[in-house]
Amino acid sequence: MNETPNVTLARGDGIGPEITDAVLNILDSAGARLNFEEIQIGETQFLSGHKSGIAPETWETIRKNPVFLKAPITTPLGGGYKSLNVTIRKSLNLFANVRPSRAYAPYVPCQFENMDLVVIRENEEDLYAGIEHQQTAEVTQVLKLITRPGCERIVRYAFEYARAHGRKHVTCMTKNNIMKHTDGLFSKVFHEIAQEYPDIQNDHQIIDIGAARVAAEPHKFDVIVTLNLYGDIISDIASQVTGSVGLAGSANIGEHVSMFEAVHGSAPDIAGKDLANPSGLLLGATQMLVHLGQQDVAQRIENAWLKTLEDGVHTGDLFGAQSTQRVGCKAFAKAIAERLGEEP
Ligand code: NAD
Repeated sequence: MNETPNVTLARGDGIGPEITDAVLNILDSAGARLNFEEIQIGETQFLSGHKSGIAPETWETIRKNPVFLKAPITTPLGGGYKSLNVTIRKSLNLFANVRPSRAYAPYVPCQFENMDLVVIRENEEDLYAGIEHQQTAEVTQVLKLITRPGCERIVRYAFEYARAHGRKHVTCMTKNNIMKHTDGLFSKVFHEIAQEYPDIQNDHQIIDIGAARVAAEPHKFDVIVTLNLYGDIISDIASQVTGSVGLAGSANIGEHVSMFEAVHGSAPDIAGKDLANPSGLLLGATQMLVHLGQQDVAQRIENAWLKTLEDGVHTGDLFGAQSTQRVGCKAFAKAIAERLGEEP
């Protein structure tokens, strides 16, 4: 592993630049060994005529570096703009989206103290394959694409992830009672591959009741593997249940390049006000450090971050009975940097 790997960096839109500054300050203070190469993507590029939100030459930088730290991007509404997030995931074959959500109770109020689940979302197929048509003025259509190789790759990844992280149970969620071919294939492959992992328990739940259970009893789940759209929705539910969507980071794993980000979006309603919680992008960055073999730095950052939460230093989205100080994005990052080297 390269001692100081190159990292593609995009500061993103909305709250992106402020949470990126906060995260870069913490990474620097913690002694992360990273060489950043910054790129411009998102709103500026959409508005300068690139309908996909990225200039063609920028791909070269993204493809040559092993990892990409990306702040959230705004997708302009209407006007034929494509989601750049979807384009990046598909173009780089980022097949697995790993989204952990755990409770930080009692420091961040959450009803479920033992909640600690990971959503593993298929990241390239399903309704996000981008095959959508306007058939007539009043009829639209989108194709749901599910392939056996795609199902096998994500399901195997989920079981391997469970094994590597000492997790005991993988739950598959689909709507195979209605979509018998597409979701049916995903659940069939899940049951086949589960046989190869007798050390890991498994079950299948219909996505609607599964999502309701993630909201009502999230502590009963361990690893959840599911299709692209369902995974997008239940991972937001799970992060909100832990206290805020601002608390979840995410890894998008590919064969050559992997991308790390927050689960949430660019939050235009609070952009530029120093109100954003940088934790999602920070936890994405710690996933990236682990991926790059810098577990020691990742652990130091996570400890300092937990200690900050324990001390009651909270951004507005987390503010509650356990808070001692309500701080903005910058002060929260400073509080974390000051606690580096401390144990939670
Ligand atoms: P959002 O996640 O940006 O915001 C939802 C709500 O959560 C808002 O009230 C926001 O203020 C709050 N919130 C989000 N992140 C927060 C944080 N870090 N700290 C405190 N509060 C936070 O979702 P949205 O409003 O549906 O989307 C806004 C834009 O982001 C859209 O253009 C969407 O396409 C884009 N988006 C981008 C990504 C990405 O780049 N990965 C993901 C989701 C949405």
